Amino acid sequence: MKTCLMASVATAMTLMATGSVAAQEKPGFKDTPMLPGGQWRVHGADRPAPVVVAPAATPGGPPADAVVLFDGRSLDAWKPDRIAWPIADGALTIPSRAKSGGENNLVSKQSFGDVQMHLEFRSPNPPTKTSQDRGNSGIWFMQRYELQILDGSQNPTYADGTVGAVYGWKPPLVNASRRPGEWQTYDIVFERPRFAADGSLVRPAYVTALLNGVLVQNHQAMLGTTIWRQVASYKAHADAAPIQLQDHDSPVSFRNIWVRPLPEAAIAQDLKKDGK
Ligand code: MG
Repeated sequence: MKTCLMASVATAMTLMATGSVAAQEKPGFKDTPMLPGGQWRVHGADRPAPVVVAPAATPGGPPADAVVLFDGRSLDAWKPDRIAWPIADGALTIPSRAKSGGENNLVSKQSFGDVQMHLEFRSPNPPTKTSQDRGNSGIWFMQRYELQILDGSQNPTYADGTVGAVYGWKPPLVNASRRPGEWQTYDIVFERPRFAADGSLVRPAYVTALLNGVLVQNHQAMLGTTIWRQVASYKAHADAAPIQLQDHDSPVSFRNIWVRPLPEAAIAQDLKKDGK
C-alpha cells in the first residue's frame, strides 16, 4: 500500500512538472467486461462522471441544485387556498380557521413529479385535543399522496394515521417523533406513479422517508390517492402537479423547505429489469 501511494505521488509530481494532466486519459478501464445493458464496462473509463452538486454548508440546508420552497422569509413559492400562512421567526404557521374561514391548504406554484424533499415541522405546544386533531397536517405530493404529519408524542391514534404514515395505508416502521414544540426533520424521496396511455397504472407511486433521521418508510408503494375511511385507488393524472401542505385545523409550523426534482435516471433501475 505504501509503495503504491509513493508511486502515485511520484506520478502526480511528474504530471505537474510536465503540465500534461489534461492530456492524460481518464482513469478507468477499456478492457473489462460489459455491464448488463451493454453500454458501459466495469470500471469503464468512458462512463461520464456524476454531475457535481455542492451540498449545503450545514446539514439539512438546501444543496446548490435545490428548489427552495421556503427559506424563512418569503411565501412566494406558494399559493394558499384562502389566506397567507403567517411568517414569524423564520417559520410558517397554519392560521386558525377563525382567521382563514375554512380549509386553507398551501399549494406550491411549481409542479413536481419525482422529488427529493426536505422539510422541518413543529407540532403545537402545549398540545391540545387528541388523536387526529392534535398537530395534524401532511405533505400531499402531487396534491394526492399524503405522507402524514401529526403530533406523534404520547398521542394514541390509529396506526395508519400517525406521523410518518402513508395515510390510510402504511404505518411508519417506527415512531420517531419528537415532542411538541421541538423542530422535526423530514427527508423524503417521492416517485410519482406511471400510467399507460389508456390511463391504467403501470407503476405505483413510491415513498422513502426519514423522520428525524430515522427510516419510517422504505421505498413503500403507495395505494392510491389519499382518502379517509375508504381504500385508496389510482386515477391517471399528469406527470407533474403541485406539492400541498395540509391545513387540518391545527397550528403546525414549518421551516426550511426545499426539493430537488429527480431525473428519470433516479428511478430507471427499478423500471428497466435489464439494468440499463
Ligand atoms: Mg394529515
